[in-house]
Amino acid sequence: MMKNRHEKQQKWVRRKAGWSRSETRPLDIRKGDTVEVLAGRDRGKRGVVMRTVLDRQKVVVEGVNLLKRHVKAGTEGNLQGGIVDFNAPVAYANVQLVCSSCGKASRMRHGVGADGRRNLICARCGEEHTRSISS
Ligand SMILES: [Zn+2]
Repeated sequence: MMKNRHEKQQKWVRRKAGWSRSETRPLDIRKGDTVEVLAGRDRGKRGVVMRTVLDRQKVVVEGVNLLKRHVKAGTEGNLQGGIVDFNAPVAYANVQLVCSSCGKASRMRHGVGADGRRNLICARCGEEHTRSISS
């Protein structure tokens, strides 16, 4: 009993005290996840994550934050030039992962599954969040 408790405390010591603003922290959201936008112009929209921009703590979500880029002819490929729609990255803090079992956007707790792997647990329904794409 006591030994177990001691090990736990040791883990706490080694654990990072906190994250400062400038640091890049790992994101819970990965490519292929469905997220809901919480703030901004596209609030309430849902989409699939196309990519994550880790060092800027942002994610690119399909159909969210659609902007137009004016492209000069001859640049990106052999386009004629003109206006191209693209999905701009949105802040990680402004999106929330949609739970795979209850289907609601919710906060995720970090846990350890039965197989010993770390997983995400929905704070709303308590079920493990499962991904279609595992990486
Ligand atoms: Zn859930």
